[in-house]
Amino acid sequence: MNTDKKELYISRDNFFRMLDVLKNEYEVYIPVKKGEKRFYKKYVDSNDNIVIGEVRAFEPLKAFFTEARESVAKDFSAEIPDKKEKPYAVVGVKACDLKGFKVHDHVFQNHDYNDPFYIRKRQRNLIISADCTFAIDTCFCLALGVNPYPERDFDINLSQMGEGFVVIAGSPKGEAIIEKNAQLFEDAKKEQVAQRAKKRTNVVREVEENIKKNSIPRQESYKDIIKKNYESSLWEDEAKTCVECGACNTICPTCHCFLLYDQKDKDKMERLRIWDSCMIKDFARVAGGANPRSKLWMRLRNRFEKKFDFFPKVADVYACTGCGRCVSACPAKIDIRKVLKRLVKHEK
Ligand code: SF4
Ligand code: SF4
Repeated sequence: MNTDKKELYISRDNFFRMLDVLKNEYEVYIPVKKGEKRFYKKYVDSNDNIVIGEVRAFEPLKAFFTEARESVAKDFSAEIPDKKEKPYAVVGVKACDLKGFKVHDHVFQNHDYNDPFYIRKRQRNLIISADCTFAIDTCFCLALGVNPYPERDFDINLSQMGEGFVVIAGSPKGEAIIEKNAQLFEDAKKEQVAQRAKKRTNVVREVEENIKKNSIPRQESYKDIIKKNYESSLWEDEAKTCVECGACNTICPTCHCFLLYDQKDKDKMERLRIWDSCMIKDFARVAGGANPRSKLWMRLRNRFEKKFDFFPKVADVYACTGCGRCVSACPAKIDIRKVLKRLVKHEK
């Protein structure tokens, strides 16, 4: 069997055998279904309600690359704390989460500062992604130019096929893992590859139906939407029900803002980094007390400005992947699909 850049097949049982091997080197996380949702859980064995296909997990992938709360310095030392932790292997990652890397890489490694924690995780963590096997009603990835199957930024990708997966390597790291476990793989049959294309087309159709049903504008129409609507009353209108919980930021695979704070524990000092939210009142407040975005609608406008004006300018990407998480998470029912529709319509 030649594992070099070609489609292979692995049975579900063999795939779990491979995860059992990977467990020695990685902390393996895998989506497990609870009710109608999927949550990442540490992989112990295959006796769980594991779902590798289906759709994105509840939590965004970013949680494996910048932790919600992490220690970044101790006792005023300039040394980078080595937590001696195993790297993560994250299984079942979807294309909408992988697009988040384009934003996070810009912020944490391709910009004016190289974040050692992020870079270390990017180098060490393993991504075993998977095609979506259906869409849920909040999925609109295609409007943001993302197909519902991974095309880049993975080490290994899985396309569910009956009781197994069509597999492709996406990096030298992925190729090496397949090579090392070559006895678990076989060449994929032509019919399986054809079947993969058919399944992908079906999911694309489902996402297209969502886009059509909700009249969601596509990214080709987003140019200057913020500039044109900067003084619009729609910001105040949309922000009316916001309760400033920050869920839209924390759940988003592209949001990345953080807060640094120091904590004293007996005679030891520690600097911690936690996820922050630009929707929270004091996010932009400066030491003298002035706040450039004191009103909630200004903060909502800023959130959209960052996603649809700032990031396309600095990193050539809209900082939204169409994952739909913020639509489900917002207790105020503020719906990004509807806001985009209003922005493109350019209401006064
Ligand atoms: S803004 Fe909403 S739909 Fe877009 S990537 Fe973030 S959570 Fe997903
Ligand atoms: S999730 Fe909704 S209510 Fe919470 S801060 Fe975001 S827009 Fe406001």
